[in-house]
Amino acid sequence: MSTTWHILGAGSLGTLWATRLARAGLPVRLLLRDRTRLQAYQAAGGLTLIEQGQSSLHPIPGETCDSPQPIHRLLLACKAYDAEAAVASIAKRLAPGAELILLQNGLGSQDAVAAKVPEARCIAASSTEGAFRDGDWRVVFAGHGYTWLGDTAHPGAPIWLDELTASGIPHEWTTQILTRLWRKLALNCAINPLTVLHDCRNGGLQQHQCEVATLCIELGELLQCCGQPDAARDLQQEVERVIHATAANFSSMHQDVANRRRTEISYLLGYACNAAVRHQLALPHLQRLQQRLKDQLHLHGLPSD
Ligand code: NAP
Repeated sequence: MSTTWHILGAGSLGTLWATRLARAGLPVRLLLRDRTRLQAYQAAGGLTLIEQGQSSLHPIPGETCDSPQPIHRLLLACKAYDAEAAVASIAKRLAPGAELILLQNGLGSQDAVAAKVPEARCIAASSTEGAFRDGDWRVVFAGHGYTWLGDTAHPGAPIWLDELTASGIPHEWTTQILTRLWRKLALNCAINPLTVLHDCRNGGLQQHQCEVATLCIELGELLQCCGQPDAARDLQQEVERVIHATAANFSSMHQDVANRRRTEISYLLGYACNAAVRHQLALPHLQRLQQRLKDQLHLHGLPSD
């Protein structure tokens, strides 16, 4: 009998994982905040995945975070700013040897989670898959991609990777997960805040090449200083490539602001600026970018943390 996949966070990525695992016949249970959310979920009859215009309903069992059953494997699929509190709410349910897979973007939340559950194995993930909610309990699979998984404390791959293969979840185990997370953070810092400040699609940054280039230089210095030379390699070229390849898209941060949702700024640009301060590295353009972004978030009535 396979180990149950407990999935906390029935949002975009949580649904994308839950429905594919369940479709492959694996045991999956959703962890929902409280009874109200559980009742709403049960009334909907399950999670709906919309893929290439086709929708499918998956009646995956749900439970609240305070159910008594032990958890052996947990996919943490909430936003970075919710991760620590979410894990605290299920910590006492974790069985000895439990494994957590952390899907949060950026850096900072992984360490905060690991500190809350020192006995558990925490595996970090970095994903280029894309999904969004078009209603409660409904998720559109918008962009095929890849998920890298790794554990900075233990290099050995877990046995359940073949379950991801069986579920059609493209993935790769890496011993360099920190490099992946830093690289993605740097790309995000060079692109996303500017799309908010200039209120443009990613391609709009082609009009602001100097600003982008200056940020890439500072981000490269930061990555070197943080012991991540591989994440710094050809950063500017990749930023330009991403801007070009995703020219028609709005960045996730732009979408968050446009939809009046809290951003993950503290785990992206905020994390980068704090790391610079810790290393006594002066990065004036990055610091100024953070201040401009915070001011903009205030203007929109959104939290700046
Ligand atoms: P999302 O759609 O907002 O989903 C987050 C879910 O977590 C929500 O359903 C929320 O529940 C739930 N949640 C939060 N705290 C909880 C708690 N204490 N107990 C139970 N449920 C809780 O977020 P997402 O887009 O999937 O993003 C998750 C992470 O993946 C982020 O760090 C994001 O940057 C990263 N990521 C996302 C994508 C993407 O395409 N979406 C791609 C790559 C990386 P409620 O609905 O009740 O608030």
